[in-house]
Amino acid sequence: MNTSILIVGSVEFYGTLLDRLDGLATRNFEVIQSEEEVLSSIQAKKPNLVILPADRASSLELCRLLKQNSNLGWIYCILVLDQPINALEEILPGWNWESGLRAAALEAGADACCWLSPKQTNSKLAEAEWRLQNLLLNSQIQTGVRQAQIYRNLMQSNDYLSAIALADPLTELNNRRALDWELPRQIENARNLSTPLSLLILDVDYFKSVNDIHGHLVGDRVLQLLSARLRHNLRFQDTPFRYGGEEIVIILSNTKLQEAKLVAQRLNSIIGDQPFMIDKNLPLQITVSIGVATLKDDDDDQGISLIDRADRNLLKAKSDGRNRVIAQSEED
Ligand code: GH3
Ligand code: MG
Ligand code: MG
Repeated sequence: MNTSILIVGSVEFYGTLLDRLDGLATRNFEVIQSEEEVLSSIQAKKPNLVILPADRASSLELCRLLKQNSNLGWIYCILVLDQPINALEEILPGWNWESGLRAAALEAGADACCWLSPKQTNSKLAEAEWRLQNLLLNSQIQTGVRQAQIYRNLMQSNDYLSAIALADPLTELNNRRALDWELPRQIENARNLSTPLSLLILDVDYFKSVNDIHGHLVGDRVLQLLSARLRHNLRFQDTPFRYGGEEIVIILSNTKLQEAKLVAQRLNSIIGDQPFMIDKNLPLQITVSIGVATLKDDDDDQGISLIDRADRNLLKAKSDGRNRVIAQSEED
């Protein structure tokens, strides 16, 4: 297990920990003394565990910052007090320091708070207490390591499941679910930033006859090759989605109608000008029809009316003879 532990504090603090941690040498740990660099170092390295001195206000503040941050809040924070409670009791006699510090640590969001008083060999009870403190600290570290590992595994599964949920397995384009999620976000963004947003719907012409003549496997291969060709020829702000069988929606962010028409015409040529080589004996000439629409002020937030306009333009491209781009004059 790759365990990274960041120890924040002075050389003395680190020395105390080194004496009292089991198998520290086998763990992947790092020490940082400069308080200014702590947060940037945590952000860059994302350690599983952070150990901080409990008697510094800056440690509590750091815990608070980490726990409020959605990307770093999972990091396990252990506050350690490396001086005897008795020493503190001299500062404020009668005050319950143990409960006070624990309450402050928990309030700041720390996951654990441990005490490490110096080793005393004058009584068996003191030695037993010393060993108990070590046991508690090491157990807390193991708990933190386990939790961080569970978190990392969960994040990996999460990434994997999101990728499956939003990708179309045949074409490797984003799927319809991804479009339903992305389009409202793009519309909101365009409206907040007052930038234009356009959308294309592309449908393969006479695709049914490809299946009927060459079979569905060849039809599938055409869809894969066509999607790859599209993907390689889009601008960085264009996002393609498999909308239905052989229909592809492309969101063109920050793009006005005139520019969207040019993009659509370029894609129409890129598909139609070169045949798709299913194998070296089977080149297939394919054309596409494309409908274009641009976001208007009275369009709904989900993009239903925007898609509907692009779809109506696609139908017109089909009825006008196919292999063409239509952006109705109402869009101009
Ligand atoms: P049009 O020019 O009017 O678009 O004619 P078309 O034949 O392409 O008609 P339409 O768009 O209605 O037909 C789509 C066909 O695409 C029907 C279906 O068999 C085929 N299709 C849809 N999804 C897939 C797929 O995943 N693989 C294959 N091989 N064929 C598919
Ligand atoms: Mg079609
Ligand atoms: Mg179709």
